[in-house]
Amino acid sequence: MEHIPFSVGNEGRQVFWNAETFEPFLFTFTAVALLIFAYGVYRRWRLWAALGKPETPLDRLPERIKALLINGFLQVKTFREPYPGIMHGLIFFGFFVLIFGAAFDATEFHIAEPLGWVFLRGTFYLVFSFLMELFGLFVLVGVLLAIYRRYIRRPEGLGYQGKPDNTPDDAVVLLLLLGIIVTGFMIEALRLRVTAPPWEVWSFGGWMLAKVFAGIEPGQAKLLHKATWWTHTFLSLGFIAYIPYSRLLHIITTPVNHFLVSLKPAGYNEPIGDFETAETFGVGKLEEFTKKQIFDSDACTRCGRCQDGCPAYLSGKPLSPKKLIQDLKTYWLMQASAAAAAKRAVNNAATGPGDTGGKSIIFKALDRIDAVVDRMGRRIATGAAPVEKAMVGEVIDLHELWACTNCLYCTENCSASIEHVPKIIGMRQYKVLTEADFAPELQLTFRNMENNSNPWGIGAHLRADWAKDLGIKTLAEEPAVEYLFYVGCSGSFDDRGKKVSSAFAKILKAAGISFGILGTEEGCCGDSAMRGGNEYLYQTLAQANIEVMKGYHVRKIITTCPHGYNALKKDYPNFGGEFEVYHHTEIIADLIAEGKIVLKKPVEGVFTYHDSCFLGRYNGIYDQPRRILRAVPGLKLTELERNFAKSFCCGAGGARMWMEEDIGERINNMRTDQAIAAGAGTIAVGCPFCLTMLSDGIKDRKKEETMAALDIAEIVWRAMDLEEERPVAEVCAAPPAP
Ligand code: SF4
Ligand code: SF4
Repeated sequence: MEHIPFSVGNEGRQVFWNAETFEPFLFTFTAVALLIFAYGVYRRWRLWAALGKPETPLDRLPERIKALLINGFLQVKTFREPYPGIMHGLIFFGFFVLIFGAAFDATEFHIAEPLGWVFLRGTFYLVFSFLMELFGLFVLVGVLLAIYRRYIRRPEGLGYQGKPDNTPDDAVVLLLLLGIIVTGFMIEALRLRVTAPPWEVWSFGGWMLAKVFAGIEPGQAKLLHKATWWTHTFLSLGFIAYIPYSRLLHIITTPVNHFLVSLKPAGYNEPIGDFETAETFGVGKLEEFTKKQIFDSDACTRCGRCQDGCPAYLSGKPLSPKKLIQDLKTYWLMQASAAAAAKRAVNNAATGPGDTGGKSIIFKALDRIDAVVDRMGRRIATGAAPVEKAMVGEVIDLHELWACTNCLYCTENCSASIEHVPKIIGMRQYKVLTEADFAPELQLTFRNMENNSNPWGIGAHLRADWAKDLGIKTLAEEPAVEYLFYVGCSGSFDDRGKKVSSAFAKILKAAGISFGILGTEEGCCGDSAMRGGNEYLYQTLAQANIEVMKGYHVRKIITTCPHGYNALKKDYPNFGGEFEVYHHTEIIADLIAEGKIVLKKPVEGVFTYHDSCFLGRYNGIYDQPRRILRAVPGLKLTELERNFAKSFCCGAGGARMWMEEDIGERINNMRTDQAIAAGAGTIAVGCPFCLTMLSDGIKDRKKEETMAALDIAEIVWRAMDLEEERPVAEVCAAPPAP
């Protein structure tokens, strides 16, 4: 084909320069690479389809597309960590532009130019060329940063228990990327060495590298160019073919997982709906996960962000959310290959050899290839047939399973939108409800909840005793109130919790808020039962509460406990309990802003705020507690190093409050140490579990003389300085605002 000549004012470059005769070979090899790629995706598809309960999370499409664009394309979650975010961004966006540029180039060469239409010419070409150089350099820098990080800097997140967990695949991928970019620049440099067009400086990367080849004869440069051209081509095509068989698969699975992410509230757990008919409960086998839950594990990039802030992992327990997901993935790959092979054998037996059984010849051929690849894969993976292991107890060790505090750090900080906690709860449900095999102390807790509707087993008739001297009315006495103060078990039975309930009730009264309590009609919210795997008990408790609340036509509820807050707000609607639920810090922040309470007495000292997991990560309440503390005169607020969405758990969530902690460091002590390091004299909290855990931590660290943990309500009540002035009984249960 005659090319329109290049000149100053009509700048451009000849595609297939020095490689004109290679074009047919290139097409052939490209077709082979694409076929290998397509087979890999097909094969993976078979594995995704092989196991798991059907689930099609395709509702709310606009939100899913938004999640795909924000996290899949713009990489927002990835950028939350500066170093790996920038590193990945350079590679991702660099490659994206290079692929787009190559496609643009090919479109002009193969389609537009034969029709007499050229657009990569002149100034447009120069800018195009400059951008391709720039983004090529981005990829190079990104890959070098990745190599430095993985093999020299070696952060803990890229390893497990102090040792790197690099695989040969990691090295192959990085070398492929490096090879593609370096040979790409070399091809360009060698072409410029020979052709030296006046506009070569616009290809600045190749132009600078061309100086290295200045001493080479043009003939030799052309030979070297040909060799490099083929190297570049094979590396690029090899890269494409390798995608479905390597960690590069995340190029496909991770964006898809962002698209399929649960759009339910953070930390939501799907209730079990078939207690009457089910023979087993929870997830004891891989196939009892949903397909989406299984797909999750295939989207994991082993980036380690989940592990970096997991309190169980950092305190030396045998749980790493990264390892958990990877173990499930390895197990799934084995099980799914076996399940797909078994299905194939059944189909073949039914149709007979040579009979296509209604399938196209292509699919039949793919089946045969599958069988061979399965056999090879098993040999490579284990040297033998897959070992039959129980998922719960062997693949996932029980200490690992029960170490989770449900803090949600992993899910919130995962760059691939993987949801760890529902998997953990599902497996716990299996141990509790199907096998009745779980820690004795948790058995006692559940019994206490069953018998007395509180985890301590204190007589249920004592639930409202904390309020006796405060003159607070129950809804039975005065149903026409604006808010139900749902006190919860800690606020009703625990000595520290009772003080918080009392302080908060006094604040409400001082502000003239109309409220009441359920008294002995209140029951445990059930959060610990649900997170401890006893969904049956949880639903029983939830339904009992809902019945009582609905009986009083409750509309608005305030809690001082984020666990109750979360359960009432997100889970009770599943059982017909639709309420407006507020955490006491939300209410107090509003009361201060509206001038309904005045903080006049200085509360001196250095305070820090500990973000409770169930208030922060689960419900996004970060600002109100801080606003309240900033409004207290005399109080100096300092931040903990791990705060907001990266806050460190106190160790009590996920029913861990009721279990022994006999492996590794105590999580509450670690959090206390963080507060000590921040120079705080008081740890302010908005959660009774955190209050208990951090008070214990202060005792363990022998800091009672200089440190304390206080609920925000206690601090506010102190700052209001009304203890003597306004007996609370006088303003009990004022009528609701009109
Ligand atoms: S929820 Fe928290 S404790 Fe559980 S695995 Fe995730 S980060 Fe670890
Ligand atoms: S689960 Fe998420 S955060 Fe953890 S290693 Fe995998 S991709 Fe990274």
